[in-house]
Amino acid sequence: MKKILIITTGGTIAMGQDERQIVQMMGENVLLSGKSLLDPYAETTFYEFANLPSVHLTVGDYLKLRELILKKCGDYDGFVITHGTDILEETAYFLDLTLHIPQPVVITGAMRSSNELASDGLLNLQQSVQTAVSEESRDKGVLVVLNGEIHGARFVQKMHTSHVETFQSPQLGSFGVVDKAGVRYFVRQCKRDYYSIQPDQLTARVAMVKAGFAVDDSFLQFALDSGAKGIVIEAMGLGHVPPAMIPGIERAVAASVPVLVCSRSPRGSVAPVYGFVGGGRDLYERGVIFAPDLPAHKARIKLMVVLAAAAGRETVEEVRKAFGM
Ligand code: ASP
Repeated sequence: MKKILIITTGGTIAMGQDERQIVQMMGENVLLSGKSLLDPYAETTFYEFANLPSVHLTVGDYLKLRELILKKCGDYDGFVITHGTDILEETAYFLDLTLHIPQPVVITGAMRSSNELASDGLLNLQQSVQTAVSEESRDKGVLVVLNGEIHGARFVQKMHTSHVETFQSPQLGSFGVVDKAGVRYFVRQCKRDYYSIQPDQLTARVAMVKAGFAVDDSFLQFALDSGAKGIVIEAMGLGHVPPAMIPGIERAVAASVPVLVCSRSPRGSVAPVYGFVGGGRDLYERGVIFAPDLPAHKARIKLMVVLAAAAGRETVEEVRKAFGM
C-alpha cells in the first residue's frame, strides 16, 4: 500500500461552526476523525504544519512547506495538503513552480466546515488521497482536488465565494475527475515551469494594482515609494489601462522595476495589439512585460518566484524571459 503524508495547514476544512453560526478554528485536528475513511486507499500519516486561515499564511510559511515536502520526499509516495480555500490556488502554484519531484502533491480544502450540514471536507480529503495514490497523477505538477474534480495548479481559480463547486479552471477545464469509479484524467501532460529559488530572495514586496474606469497612477507611485521589487497590473481587456496610469508605469520601467500586465477578464490572454495611449502595444513599447494566460494573483506568485530565482541578476531580462512577452 502506498504511503501518503497528509500535511494539515488549517482553513475551513479544519474549522467548525459554533451555536451562533460563526465559523472558527478548532482546538483539535478534526481531520484525524476521518483517518479510517482513508485506510482502504493508503497508509496515511498526518503532519500538523499549521492551523491557520489561509489568508494568515506568510512567505516564511511557503518556504517551510516547500522544505518539508523536499525533506520528506524520500519517505512517501505522495503528499496531500489540507488548506484554506482563499489562498489555495496561490500556494498550489507556488509549489508547482518550485518543486521538481515525481510524487503527486495534491492540495484540498472545504467550503463547509467540519460540523456543518453536508460538510465537504472529509470527502475532499478522501478523493485527494485517491488522487495522490494514482500512478497517473505522477509528474503532473501540483494538483488541486475538490468536489470530485482534479485541476492543475496553474489554471485553477476559486470562482464562487461559497458554493462547493467553486474550483474551476476557466481557461482549460479540469485535468480529470475522481469519484467512486476512481481517478480518470482527460489531459495527459501540461507544459510546466520550474525555478530553482534562492529562499532568502523570496519577497512578498510585489505590488498588485488594479486598473479600472478613470484610475490614475497614485497606487503605482505609492508602490514605488514603498520599495516594490515588481508590480503586477490587472489591466482591462487585452491589457489596457487609462492614460493617467502611464507616468507611474514609466517611473517603474526607468527604475528597472519589472511591470507585468494581466487582464481582469478571466479567460483569454493579454497581447500587445492596440496602439492607443495605454493600449497593449503602447504599454509594450514603454517596456511593460505581458503575462499571457495568467490572472494577476498567479502572475504575482510567478513574479515572486522568478525574482527569487534570478537573485538580482539582470532582473528585468530574466522576468521577460520567464513570461515570454
Ligand atoms: N474560507 C477559507 C477556507 O476555505 C478560509 C481560508 O482560506 O482559510 O478555508
